[in-house]
Parts: sequence; C-alpha cells; structure tokens
Amino acid sequence: PKYVYDFTEGNKDLKDLLGGKGANLAEMTNLGLPVPPGFTITTEACRHYLAHGTVPEGLAAEIDEHLAALEKQMGKRLGQPDDPLLVSVRSGAKFSMPGMMETVLNIGLNDESVRGLAAVAGGDAAGERFAWDSYRRLVQMFGKTVLGIDGELFEDALEDLKRSKGTDSDLALDASDFQELVGTYKRIVREHAGREFPTDPREQMDLAVKAVFDSWNAPRAILYRRQERIPADLGTAVNVCSMVFGNLGMDSGTGVAFTRDPATGRQGVYGDYLQNAQGEDVVAGIRNTVPLAELERIDKKSYDELLSIMETLENHYRDLCDIEFTIERGKLWMLQTRVGKRTAAAAFCIATQLVDQGLITQDEAVTRVTGAQLAQLMFPRFDDSRAADSTLLTKGMNASPGAAVGKAVFTSERAVELAGEGEDVILVRRETNPDDLAGMVAARGILTSRGGKTSHAAVVARGMGKTCVCGAEELEVDVKAGKFTAPGGVVVSEGDVISIDGSTGAVYLGEVPVVNSPVVDYFEGNLAAADGDELVRAVDRIMACADEKRALRVRANADNPEDAARARRFGAQGIGLCRTEHMFLGDRRRLVENLVLAETDEERQAALDALEPLQRQDFTGILEAMDGLPVTIRLIDPPLHEFLPDLTELSVKVATAGRDADPKDVRLLEAVRRLHEQNPMLGLRGVRLGLVIPGLFAMQVRAIAEAAAERRRAGGDPRPEIMIPLVGAVQELEAVREEARGILAEVAAATGVDVPAMIGTMIELPRAALTAGQIAEAAEFFSFGTNDLTQTTWGFSRDDVEAAFFGRYLELGIFGVSPFETLDRDGVGRLIRIAAEEGRRTRPDIKLGICGEHGGDPDSVHFCHEVGLDYVSCSPFRIPVARLEAGRAAI
Ligand code: PEP
Ligand code: MG
Repeated sequence: PKYVYDFTEGNKDLKDLLGGKGANLAEMTNLGLPVPPGFTITTEACRHYLAHGTVPEGLAAEIDEHLAALEKQMGKRLGQPDDPLLVSVRSGAKFSMPGMMETVLNIGLNDESVRGLAAVAGGDAAGERFAWDSYRRLVQMFGKTVLGIDGELFEDALEDLKRSKGTDSDLALDASDFQELVGTYKRIVREHAGREFPTDPREQMDLAVKAVFDSWNAPRAILYRRQERIPADLGTAVNVCSMVFGNLGMDSGTGVAFTRDPATGRQGVYGDYLQNAQGEDVVAGIRNTVPLAELERIDKKSYDELLSIMETLENHYRDLCDIEFTIERGKLWMLQTRVGKRTAAAAFCIATQLVDQGLITQDEAVTRVTGAQLAQLMFPRFDDSRAADSTLLTKGMNASPGAAVGKAVFTSERAVELAGEGEDVILVRRETNPDDLAGMVAARGILTSRGGKTSHAAVVARGMGKTCVCGAEELEVDVKAGKFTAPGGVVVSEGDVISIDGSTGAVYLGEVPVVNSPVVDYFEGNLAAADGDELVRAVDRIMACADEKRALRVRANADNPEDAARARRFGAQGIGLCRTEHMFLGDRRRLVENLVLAETDEERQAALDALEPLQRQDFTGILEAMDGLPVTIRLIDPPLHEFLPDLTELSVKVATAGRDADPKDVRLLEAVRRLHEQNPMLGLRGVRLGLVIPGLFAMQVRAIAEAAAERRRAGGDPRPEIMIPLVGAVQELEAVREEARGILAEVAAATGVDVPAMIGTMIELPRAALTAGQIAEAAEFFSFGTNDLTQTTWGFSRDDVEAAFFGRYLELGIFGVSPFETLDRDGVGRLIRIAAEEGRRTRPDIKLGICGEHGGDPDSVHFCHEVGLDYVSCSPFRIPVARLEAGRAAI
C-alpha cells in the first residue's frame, strides 16, 4: 500500500486514511488556497506500527521520496545549515481529538542550522532572537513529546531564567538568553532521557513521527475516545508540513477564525488574532489576543484575503468551518480547516440558514442535526448569571441533563407525599433502586452520592427525561437522619431547597432561577413556530421534513391520560406501551394485597371486582386522550411481591409483636413468604402471572373492552390493542388469547358495541424471538421489549449490573455504551432480525414495534428503521427525538 500522500494527492473524503487534518489540508491545497507544502503519513502506517512495534516496510523510502520533492519545491533541504527547511510534525486522527495527541514544531534545527535561520530571518538581533527561540522550542517540545520528559522541567528552567533576569515576560529575553536556555534544555534531555538531543534533522523527524503514532495510545487519548465513543483501532495520521512563522515581527501573527458564530450560527467575522506569535502562544495565553476584526486595521491585504478564503471554504464545505492561519511577513497561510463544532442551537439555525442560502437541501439540513442536540434544547436550563452567584455545594456526574430546583427529601415516600402537596422536591439518595420509582416520578430531580452514569438512577432518570446528578461522592447522605453533609460541613436537611444541574453535575444550595426551553413550549403547542425565535422556526422546519421522510411511526410509552395527552402534543401516533402495573400503585396497593391474600374464589373475585372499575376509568381516560390512535395496553407484568411489604421488615414486625401480632399481618407474612423468589425477574411475572392467578387478566381485558365500549358510545374512536408480556412459548399466548377473545365477545354482546382489539405479544425472551414463527400464529403484533430482551440475552440483571460492573466493562471496552441504553446490534439486534423475519413469514401483515427504552435512543432508532419495524415507542419526552432520528434514518 501507499503510506504517504502529498497534500496535492489527497482530498477531504479520505479522512479514514489521512485523518481529518490531512484530508482537509489536501482539500485546501487542491482548492488553490495558500497551504504550506507538505505530506501526510497514513493511519494505515500508524495501525501497522501500533500492531507490530515497527514502521511498515517501505515507509522510510516513501518518506525519502516525499521529503525530497518537498525540499525541491521549497528550494532548500531539511536542516540545511545556511537556510534550513523546517517542518512541523502533527497528529491528525479521523475524528478531532483536541489537544489529545502530539505536535512537534521547528524540526530541522540544530547548532548549525540555527545560525542559518538567524541569517535568513534578517541577520539582526531580532533574527537571532527568533532563531534561538525557535530552537529552544524544538528541544522543549521534542524532549517532552518524543522523549517523554516531564514538561515542567522545561517550564521551570524558563521561569528560573526569567527570574534571574528580573522579568516575567518572554519578550524581555534576548538571543543570548535563549541560547543559554537551549544549553539548559539539552542538559535536561541528557539527564532525563539518557541520550543526547538528536542533531540529525532526519532522525528528529523519524522519532517525532513515531511519537505521534505512540500518542494514539496515551492514557488521555484513550479516555477521550471512550467518552466520545471513538473506536480505539483507527490510529492517527501524521502531517509533515513546512513551517511558516507568525513570530517574525509585527507584520506576522497567528489566529483562529470561524465562518460563522459557533454559538448562534450568525454570519460575521468571528475569531482571534495575535501579532508576532506562534500558535501555541495563543493557547498558552502569554499575551491577549485581539478580535479578528482588528486585523483589517493591522494588515488589510491579509484580512481581505482571509475573508475571501472563508467564503470559499464555506461555499465549498457547505457548512460552518473553523480555521487556523498564520501570517508570515504579510503573507497569509492556511494551517488547518475543518467543519467546526457548534452548540445544539447553532446546529439547527445553521442548517436552515444554509438551506435558505441555497447551499444545502432541506433533506440535508435534517442530517446536519442530531436527536441528542434536540434533546439538549428541550431541557430547562439554569440562568447562568444567577448560578454564578449561588453557593456550589459539590459536583457529581452529569447523568441526565436539565435543571431542577426543589426541597431535598430522602425517601421515595416523602417525595410522593410532598409532591402530592404541590411541593417541588429533589430526591436525594445514596443510590436508587426500583422501589424508589414512585419517588423518582414525583421528584423534580434526583441526586445520588453513589453510582455512575449507568446506575439505576441515571438510566431511569434519562428515560423519564428527568434531571439527575449521580455519584456526587463528596456528599455524605444520611437517609435515616434525613440530611446530607457537603464539603465544608454544610448540612442540608429535609425541606432545605437545593438546585441541581444535570448538564454540568453541579449541586447548589438554595434556588437558582430556571429558564424554560422555548423548544418545549413549541412542541407543547404553547408557542407557534411563527412567533418563536430563529431557533424555534428552524426546529419547526427540520421536524416537518423529518416527519415527511420517516418510515417509522412514533408512539409513546404512557400509562396515564396526562402523559398520553402530552405525548400526543409532542407528535405521538399512538401508545406503544401502557404499563398497567403502574396503575396498581399508591392507594390501590391495598386492593392488590387483598387479591394476593384471597383464600377462596369469592374473596378473590371480590378483590378483582373492586379493581375493575378503577382500571376501566384508567383506560377510558387514556383512550380518550389518544382518540383515533392505537393504544397498546399491556396486561400486568411485574411480580406480585413488588406490591407487598418487604419480607424482612414484616417478619421483624410480626416477631416483635409476638402474641399481639395483628392476624392480618400474620396472613400477609405468609403470603409474602409464599411469593418470595430468589430471582423475581425470572419468576412469577408477565403471562405466567395471568395463567396462575385466575381472573386477573380477565378483569383487565374486561375493563379494556368496557372502557372502549363506553368511549364508542360517547362518540369516540377508541383503538385498544391488548398485549401479553413475557411470552416464551406460543402455548402461553394461545391460552390467554382464548380467554381474552371470549371476554371481548361477552362485552360486545352485553353492551351492543363491538370494538375490535388486536391481541399481540411482547418479544422479551430469546425463546420468543427464536420461535417467533410459531408465536406469530397467535399474535397479531409483536412489540420488542428490549429491556428484558437485553437482560435475558446477556444474562445481566437490569436492576443491578450497571452499578455493579458496567463501569469496569466500559473501561475495558467490552462495550462502548451500556446495552440497556443503546441496542446491542450483534446480539439482541440479531434476535430482533430473526423474530421480525420469521414473524412476517408466518403472518405477512404482522405489526412490529419496539417499546423498550431503546425506542427513544438515536442509534437504536436507526437500527429499527434498518430492520423495517413499523414503529418505535418511547417516553413522551423522547418523542421529538425519535421523530427526528427516524427521519434522519430514512434520508
Ligand atoms: C421491556 O422489557 O423492554 C419492556 C418494555 O417492559 P418493562 O420495561 O416494563 O419490563
Ligand atoms: Mg419487560
């Protein structure tokens, strides 16, 4: 293979091979822009080096050839004593990893060529100073980057020198000072690297290239990749570029520019410029930069040229570009460009601006934004200026974005209670577990002192679109005493107001004012697009296009009329999952208790009869909110013991009471013992429950049918669908279906209203997926329950493992993201493909959807589109995200 590409040989589409920087330098070169000549060593060479510990055969010869061509073009040799060609060696991976990897400048300098450089730089004191300064920078960067010497040693030596001269500015140092510093730096190299600083220019270059290769696996680079989900095996390219100097006097300088404002998208002159400086001086902040607009006054010719280049680049890349440039004695040079990072709001605005400028199509605009960006725009934020004035208690992990303010509470019960009284509360726990669900629902936000971004609190909060800060380890949470202690001894007790920022992880004492998202107002229908600002209008246009293009329908997971109505406003086209067990919480727990305790058929029937009207009411409300749209109601799923008191607590209570124990408690304890399971998630739940407790599913089906009949009589258009959970064998489904059909017919006969209801199943077990062809005989639809399907496919307990060992798994790269968050395409995804295909073979018109958490996850939505599902279902708050991603997947 070819390992080295001259800048004239590449182009912007070769990022895999040339890295982002190399590909864009080539693109600019071919556009005729002023790029200093150079060449790029491919990522393939890097991958070979990382795999074998040696550079590939033939690389050296190719570099020779390209270096010779470069020398010919520049009219001087690398390190030529009387007029040296100097080069920079820079890393450049496919995805930008700012500051993560290495750069060495001024390669080619040594004790001889430094004098040549001084001569060509003017031969005067300034030229001398420049040359020796450049040389000491080389020894410093080389020592640190290539030889791995602690950079502080060089910094300290520079500081010592300045101190001995009685100055604190580099500008006060002259050529002889820098010459002395070169000597000091070389000594540091000798002492700490056990070798001399290499004076052979070509050796300098070869070692620098290897150092850049090695920097791919530097710890900070590994960490950054993991966070940004950049694959670990890409490797980096290396750019060897002839040096131009921004530090040759006041007619030189260096700067950065954006073709438009990366925060708002507005076009204009954005950037910074620093006279008589090199790139790293800007970063180091040795002097203050001036706004780019001032360059017009400093050097009008270069300024005009730069603006014209920026226009060329934007028209060529059809996007916001950011740029690094240097002016060497009045001559402008382009050192880098790329499609620039931007805020979420700017992404939407820029995309529509570019459509209006005729640079991209409306479809392309949809691909230029992401669901993650849209989600960011939907969270309320703290008013930044006010946050700065507040007391910061600590910082935890930013687990689920948003801003929440409320009274601290320490138990789920108190959260529910106070929220019921209309208070805003923040639920504070060491960590949460499924028992805290009701409190999490009731709270404005969740704060935990333990657990990472995949902990129960984090995952559940994200699913609910609720603000969460987790793993705030400095907090000592004392649930029993109802307080937590922050660093510095600040104690926050129940009822004290705190504010948490799920986007930054900050925890504040007291109330920080919150600003609502106009984008949510728009989705809610409280703000017409035409009345909104540029961002709202941009979101409106992009959503319209995504909706038009998408093949997937989007439904909501909702189990009360309010959520259903909100979901509908957000664009839901029905309900894909109504979890009926959520309707058995709160006051109704009692009734469920009675059902479990029932010893005779009569007692059981009485308990069911008490539950039925309540269920009917629930369903009527939801069917009304979703009138004319499908509503998939899932029959009760989780283990009954979740509705009963805790075994240990109740045992203690009964034991302490002794003879005086309440007989009801004693009976209850028996029932709790009887129903206690080691692995409740694999136990009596889902369809099994329906088959074991006579009349339970029947009651629910009757309530659905009667609610539908009632809605129909009221002039509505109810469209219920009945879903059976946790089916593993077609026989289970057949038994339930038979009974359900009988009840539907009964209700139809009794009410005189026939509301057809499809009966289908969830696919949540590997066996269900693998026998989908059989199950489809009895199911009119499948809905993939990917929470349980992930749990049962991996054998991971969805409630425990994330806290237990996912952190380590992520660290080891076993997966880049929790499979409970983003669908595992290879494993769980394969089962879905099998089930979809075999289900359709049996029943070509079978409806297919997904209702696990993955239904609102961008990457998983794309997968669902690829597999050809009919719809995704997700929590109301994620619906706009799913609509957008479904559109992006289809374009
Ligand atoms: C699932 O398992 O994916 C699902 C939607 O059901 P639940 O989360 O209620 O178990
Ligand atoms: Mg499930």
